[in-house]
Amino acid sequence: MVRSYEKILLGEFESGEDLFNIFFFCWFTFQVSKININELNEIQDYVERNFKLDNFLHEIADTRAELFNIEPKEPVKEDFKKVVKDLGITPTGQEYSEVAEMLCERVMREMKTRRKLSRITQALRIVYYKRAAKVMREGKRQVSCYAGISNCHLSPWGDIWTCNIQAFNKSMGNLREFNYDFKKLWHSAHAEEVRRWVKEEHCYCPLVGQAFLDTVMNPRELLKVFYYYLKK
Ligand code: SF4
Repeated sequence: MVRSYEKILLGEFESGEDLFNIFFFCWFTFQVSKININELNEIQDYVERNFKLDNFLHEIADTRAELFNIEPKEPVKEDFKKVVKDLGITPTGQEYSEVAEMLCERVMREMKTRRKLSRITQALRIVYYKRAAKVMREGKRQVSCYAGISNCHLSPWGDIWTCNIQAFNKSMGNLREFNYDFKKLWHSAHAEEVRRWVKEEHCYCPLVGQAFLDTVMNPRELLKVFYYYLKK
């Protein structure tokens, strides 16, 4: 692992090049924000020139209470009161759509050069970019959200959040109040109530981690993944 890490830093890494690396996937995630959106092509070229990655994933730079870059709907812990502010870094739907188009073109171009397993991630990326752009343009969900069912987030204070966008807003409960019994919290009446709230579509987001899980849970989206996987 250390050897591979050093190689990444030196720009010498090529995943899958030897037995040691066959199951080692090298993956960078990049946040597309108002600050870097105009330099995206340049950044992409630099990464392609200097690293041989399995996946270079782009995510929209979000304003989230969890990151303290937006005013949360509920009061945050005392320690963070001074750092909470809205930085306005999220690109508009139109701006992101242009980026998504460029990224999808690049991913499709590089698809043939990828390892088989990597191609699955690339196909997932295309489906994600296209859907995230639509979510941002239309300001609404395009598929069902399984936050609080397929996964959850544990806060440093023991709160179980449905997703990190709903940090400090929609807690399914605090582990301390359940004597650290996760199962009890997960099946509690309040957790069910929060799941109902998620199902009622009060919110939307382009969150990449959740989007990948929502894709896996949705047969129509999975078909799209297979389509891009097989497309030459
Ligand atoms: S749509 Fe987004 S913000 Fe809303 S619950 Fe799902 S992951 Fe969280």
